[in-house]
Amino acid sequence: MIKYNLVCKCKKTFESWFLNSAEYETLKKKKLINCIYCNSNKIEKTIMAPNLSVRSNKKSKKNKLEKNIKKQLVEFKKYIEKNYEDVGSNFAQEARSIHYDNKNSKGIYGKATAEETDELLDEGIEVTTIPWIKKVEN
Ligand SMILES: [Zn+2]
Repeated sequence: MIKYNLVCKCKKTFESWFLNSAEYETLKKKKLINCIYCNSNKIEKTIMAPNLSVRSNKKSKKNKLEKNIKKQLVEFKKYIEKNYEDVGSNFAQEARSIHYDNKNSKGIYGKATAEETDELLDEGIEVTTIPWIKKVEN
């Protein structure tokens, strides 16, 4: 006797005993194996080693996602470099002067420490931190 884990097209799984694998094939061909839940004969043996492939699928999906995000960040960086003024490490100072002096600015970007960023946000100055992509490998 041999026990198989079976899966129906209704996604339910159940176990069934067969004389041997040949009997399973014969019964399947004659559509004599029925789902105990929905009575369908669209039954398959469950594949026993899906774990690894599921994992690697997830990983490649994640890589793809990371690549897309990277690409968007690079586009975003290009946009900022084109439309904003680079103030380098004077960022916090410049951001304040724009905020408090109502200085006309097309927008600035530059470096600020996490502390400086927190202070600016506390003062109600809108700043956004983005990851700065240096180089993209294709
Ligand atoms: Zn079923």
